[in-house]
Order: sequence, then C-alpha cells, then structure tokens
Amino acid sequence: MRAGFPDFRLGKVLATSFTGTLSERYGDSVERIPTPGRLADWLAVYGLAVDSCTTAQLDLARELREAIHAAATAAAIQDVLPASAVQVINDFSVRGRAAAILTPEGERRWRLGADSRVEDALSVIAADAISIIAGERDGKLALCASPTCQAAFFDASQSRTRRWCDMNTCGNRQKKARFNANQRKNPRSAD
Ligand SMILES: [Zn+2]
Repeated sequence: MRAGFPDFRLGKVLATSFTGTLSERYGDSVERIPTPGRLADWLAVYGLAVDSCTTAQLDLARELREAIHAAATAAAIQDVLPASAVQVINDFSVRGRAAAILTPEGERRWRLGADSRVEDALSVIAADAISIIAGERDGKLALCASPTCQAAFFDASQSRTRRWCDMNTCGNRQKKARFNANQRKNPRSAD
C-alpha cells in the first residue's frame, strides 16, 4: 500500500474486483485507482504488471470498469444487458494482446504484449467479465445488500446466498448498524 491512497479491496474474481476499485457508489464513493500509478499497482497485484501507465490509459480503464459495472449489474438482476456496455467490453477484449501461459508448476499466468501495455491487461479483465456475465463459471452474479454499495459481485458460495460484496467491509458495517439499532431499541441489553 502506498501512503496517502485508499487501499485496495482484493477479491478473488478479477472483473468484479476491478469494478470494486470504485466503492460505495451510492454513498460517499471512494476511488481506489485515483492515479495512473495506482492502476499500475492494482494490475500488478493481479499478475498483470505493466511497464507504464498514462492518464489516458487510466481513463480507458475507468471506461471499461463502468461498462463492466453496468453489464454485471444488469446480469445480476436478470435485466437486458445495456448494449453500449456490451460494446465497450467487447472493444476492450478485442484490443489487447495477452496470452495465457502455463507455468511448469501448472499455474496459469498472463503474458502481455512486448511492451506490457495497459490495453493488454484491460483485455484480460474484459475477457474475465465476459466469462462471468456469460455464466461460464461456477457461481452467480449478485448485488451487495449494502444500500450505499450495491456492487455486483460473483457469488461462488455453495448455497449462493452471499449478501455482501465483502464480508470485512460491507458485511461488517451492516452487522454494526444492526447492533447499534438494537442498542437504541433496547439500551438495557448493554449492561
Ligand atoms: Zn458491498
């Protein structure tokens, strides 16, 4: 973590972790990739290290992020996918030159183009979003139950009953709010 910047919320799913770089969309929103350098940091965490990142590329990343957010939200509530968001996701998917590489240990890594462009990394994220929205992976898209968040997240739990995008943040906040409400209704229970 770099001092002075909001920390990252790191989920297991690439595409929805990426949309989570803007959190509390319906409250006091927090931009977690406020600078090109922070986007580069975030990409490196997900195995998509780039050589450099410009302000224009940060704008591109945010354009893709909002398109994934719109399409994933529609998919989560089984609404029609917004055509413009689908177009953006497809454009980004096509634009990159990333290749899947199998390591000797049997792990999948991404190799970006020769000059490790941000566009290549974004194409990997777009493809990840496509696989989730298309329902190819084991799990389902849902919306976070926190009214100020409502982030689309990928529920891979066995029961498919996850309510929050992140237990440590939204889930905890909800629990605390419930606890405080109970305290107000029932102040003696604090003794
Ligand atoms: Zn949430």
